[in-house]
Amino acid sequence: MTMFFLNTDAKTNGVSYHDEWFARRIAVTSGPEKFCRKLARIGRLETVLMYVNHLGVVGAGTILDDEPVLVTDKASQVSPVEDLEYHRQVDWHSDLRLAPIGMEMLSRLCGRPPRHSVERVVKGERALSRLFDRGQRRSARALSAPPSRVQSTVSRIVRDTAKAIQVKQLHGSRCQICGHSIVLGDGSKYAEGHHIRPLGSLHDGPDVLSNIVCLCPNHHAACDLGAIRLSRAKLRQVNGHLIGQEFIGYHNDRIFQKC
Ligand SMILES: [Zn+2]
Repeated sequence: MTMFFLNTDAKTNGVSYHDEWFARRIAVTSGPEKFCRKLARIGRLETVLMYVNHLGVVGAGTILDDEPVLVTDKASQVSPVEDLEYHRQVDWHSDLRLAPIGMEMLSRLCGRPPRHSVERVVKGERALSRLFDRGQRRSARALSAPPSRVQSTVSRIVRDTAKAIQVKQLHGSRCQICGHSIVLGDGSKYAEGHHIRPLGSLHDGPDVLSNIVCLCPNHHAACDLGAIRLSRAKLRQVNGHLIGQEFIGYHNDRIFQKC
């Protein structure tokens, strides 16, 4: 498995933009062209870890495109201070913002924390991937706690993610396409919430139950990558969760066979 650290704040005056990366499903480097080449080292479907200086890994994802895109339009840029930005599309499948893989753990697993804006993980990949799988489940549990126990600074994330958790609960973590659910070592079940019309500025989908399906990881990747056509009639249904036909239509028109 090839895995890369991506530093979210090495070139942005100490400000972290990781929330923006999650919301827009992107990874960014900025500045001279060498930062484009660094980002271009990562291949499609390779794993990337979102690293914040002095904090640790706050997310893990899969690169969805073939190469970086140069972004010069200010409205589409993440940083207000750089003239040139390079973007990659990423499915940030593991959100560890509430339970980051910390500096001590990174040093223990990888020998040292990453030092560059883009850096290949040379040691500890397997252990890291186990940690972000587990961290994602831990975050999901934290997010489903009563709102009073969650800091107001993460309320947007709670609202977004709670909807996906609700959909997974309604379906007992069974994939709405194949009916399969993954049973973990502790007996709990694992599935993923997929926004049919994706969130973020590119697609601008809403975070509502009718735009979310409960999927196994295989079908989640197949939908993200536009590998399958969706049909509402063929999706497994439960009471209290109706999928919007407009979102199915959006997927079939705009995402199916377009990635
Ligand atoms: Zn499935």
